[in-house]
Amino acid sequence: MGKHEVVTEGTKGNEQQESMNLLISTQTVIKEALEKLGYQESMYELLKEPLRVLTVRIPVRMDNGEVKVFTGYRAQHNDAVGPTKGGIRFHPEVTEDEVKALSIWMSLKAGIVDLPYGGGKGGIICDPREMSFRELERLSRGYVRAVSQIVGPTKDIPAPDVFTNSQIMAWMMDEYSKLREFDSPGFITGKPIALGGSHGRETATAKGVTICIREALKRRGIQLEGARVIVQGFGNAGSYLSKFMHDAGAKVVGISDAYGALYDPEGLDIDYLLDRRDSFGTVTKLFTNTISNKELLEMECDILVPAAIENQITKANAHQIKASIVVEAANGPTTLEATKILTERGILLVPDVLASSGGVTVSYFEWVQNNQGYYWTEQEVEEKLEHVMVKAFENVYTLSQTRRVDMRLAAYMVGVRKMAEASRFRGWV
Ligand code: GLU
Repeated sequence: MGKHEVVTEGTKGNEQQESMNLLISTQTVIKEALEKLGYQESMYELLKEPLRVLTVRIPVRMDNGEVKVFTGYRAQHNDAVGPTKGGIRFHPEVTEDEVKALSIWMSLKAGIVDLPYGGGKGGIICDPREMSFRELERLSRGYVRAVSQIVGPTKDIPAPDVFTNSQIMAWMMDEYSKLREFDSPGFITGKPIALGGSHGRETATAKGVTICIREALKRRGIQLEGARVIVQGFGNAGSYLSKFMHDAGAKVVGISDAYGALYDPEGLDIDYLLDRRDSFGTVTKLFTNTISNKELLEMECDILVPAAIENQITKANAHQIKASIVVEAANGPTTLEATKILTERGILLVPDVLASSGGVTVSYFEWVQNNQGYYWTEQEVEEKLEHVMVKAFENVYTLSQTRRVDMRLAAYMVGVRKMAEASRFRGWV
C-alpha cells in the first residue's frame, strides 16, 4: 500500500485490459453515428483519432535520491467547439491508445451535456499507490512543465481522473501559474475549494449517475424506494453513488472493489462500508464472505451500475445479467456485443458517455466561476447539474426511441452532432 492518503476520482483494476479495443469500439460507434446523421466518410476521418497527441518523458528525483523517468501523454481530440477538456489519470496500465479513446469519449460527453468544449485526456504511467506525497508532487509539476505548451485555460483544461485528486490539481495549477507568472485557476478543474474549486465537484459524477438512474426508473415505471442496486467499484463514483442510493431509500445489495465483492439480498450497511473504505476505494479485504466481481454482476438486482473498469459485461455474461436497468458509471464497462444482447433482452442501458458526464459538467461550472471570479453555492451547482443531466437524458432517450437505435448509438449521435457541425462551419471538412 502507498505511504499516503489519496482520495481518487475512480478505481482501475489490475487486469490487463485490451485498450486497443476501446479505441476500435469507440471508432465503430462514431462511424455508425456519423452515417446515421448523414455525414460523409471525411468527417469520420477527422473524428476517428485525436487531432493531437503529445508524449512526454518526465524525470523525477525520487526520495531515495535516484532519478526515475516517467512517460506521460496528453491527447486533444477535437477543438472545433471550444478548448479541449478532460482528466489526467495516474496508473501503471495507462497506454497511448487508452488516452486517445478516452479523449474521444470526453468529446462525446461534452456534446451530450452541451458544453462549449471538445475532449482531451492525459495519463502518466506510474503507480501512485507506491509513491510518496513528495514524489507525487514532483511528478505532477513535471507533467505540467512538459505539456505546458499545449494546455491552458482557453486551450485544454485538465481535471482529475483515475488515481488523481484535488491535491494533484492544486500542485498542477500552482506550477502552471508560476510558469505563466499570473494566477490561473481556470487552467485546471477539480481543485480544492480554497483554490477556486467548485462546490459539488467531488460528488458530481455520482450525482449525475443518480439523476440518470432516476430518469431511467421513470421510463420503466419502477420506484427508487426499495429498488435493489448493485454497484461494482468503490472509487469516487461508486462510493458516493452507493451512499446516494442508500440515502434515497434504495436497497444497495452489492458492492465491490478490485479485490472482491459483497452481496446481501437484505441490503448492505453502506455507512459502515464507507467508513472502512481506504483512500483507494478498498474495503472487501476486511471480509471473508466475499464473492468475485464476476459473480456480483450476475446476482439478483433491479439496477446494475458498473463503476469500476472497462470490459466487464461481455457476450460471455450479458445473458446472465438480472438487472432491468444497467447504468455505466465507468468508462467502457460493456462491450458492443454485450450492448446488443442487453438491448435485445429489453434491458435499458444508460451508456457511459451519458451517465458519467456529471463530472465534466461541474468541471465546466468550476471553469465558468473561475473565469468570472464569482462563486456559486452548492445548491446553485446542484440545480444547474440537475437541469443539464435531465435534459441530456431526455435528448438521448428520445433519439433512441424515434430513430429506433440503442441508447449507446443514440448517445454517440447526440455527442458527435455539434462537433461535426462546428468542424464543418470552420471549413475543416
Ligand atoms: N475525468 C472525468 C471524466 O472522465 C472528468 C473530466 C473533467 O472534469 O474535465 O469525465
